[in-house]
Amino acid sequence: MVSLVIVGSIGLDDVETPFGAVQGALGGAASYAAYAAAFFVRPGIVSIAGKDFPDQYRELLMAKGIALEGIAPAEKTFRWTGSYAFDMNEAQTKKTELNAILDFQPNVPKSWRAAHYVLLGNIDPELQAQALAQFQSPRLVVLDSMNFWIQGKRKSLLEIIRQVDILVLNDAEARQLFETPNLAKAARKALLLGPRAVIWKKGEHGALLFTADSHFSAAGYPLEDIKDPTGCGDTFAGALIGYMAKHSAGVDDHVQLRRAMVHASALASFNAEDFSLMRLTRLTPEEISVRVAEFHRMREF
Ligand code: AMP
Repeated sequence: MVSLVIVGSIGLDDVETPFGAVQGALGGAASYAAYAAAFFVRPGIVSIAGKDFPDQYRELLMAKGIALEGIAPAEKTFRWTGSYAFDMNEAQTKKTELNAILDFQPNVPKSWRAAHYVLLGNIDPELQAQALAQFQSPRLVVLDSMNFWIQGKRKSLLEIIRQVDILVLNDAEARQLFETPNLAKAARKALLLGPRAVIWKKGEHGALLFTADSHFSAAGYPLEDIKDPTGCGDTFAGALIGYMAKHSAGVDDHVQLRRAMVHASALASFNAEDFSLMRLTRLTPEEISVRVAEFHRMREF
């Protein structure tokens, strides 16, 4: 039984960082998010992939227990080309080839429509809305997006934000979408739209949670070896909702939400240690527990 459904891109990424480069690597928001969520529950992906999407990538996702029946077939897979400068906090998109995403009509498998947990991962906000409409009565809906859609589909993005419980964006995107340099003001504006919690991801500096009456900050892990931060945001969002699903938690359960953020921050930090999903595929639950315990120690004073 799939308890968590993840909607988002599946992609082939060409990425260059100061520490190396990969071409045609497994990427896309749904790939990272589902892989991270699968450390906690069994997720299913709703997306689209082309004939050029290698079988070995499908097998890698299936081997982690991720259900792929919601991936529609197409000719050409979405492709993203990006690079990072020395500080690696923000990707420079060099090329976005939407390919399959242009014809995508999300179709949530019938037996998944009763799922209680839904992550609307990064993809066209109109597709996020079409997918969300197919669920019966989800308990927790989390939404992530990025600058590409803020620029291109701002109105649709603001509409779908009204329908979700938790909005997750990185700090630059939050400033851009809510037209303010101040993250607390951006959070207030976001909460007015409808979400009961908003989380601003701050790359290597962790993440900030805002609700109507509380605030929390999850630390970033002081990593010494960062190779490729691609997918850290998606990994964060996937781990966050995976943790909430595992603990049957809703948006108003602030204790679990804080714990979910710390676990999400831990998984995202691991993801940056290697290219594509490579570090996640070697990651063990014990390593996650050790890093979460380190976060506890880092915060004691
Ligand atoms: P992140 O580093 O978490 O922001 O996400 C990087 C991933 O997002 C890459 O694997 C890309 O394939 C994917 N991606 C990049 N641009 C887009 C876009 N416009 N829509 C959906 N996914 C995208």
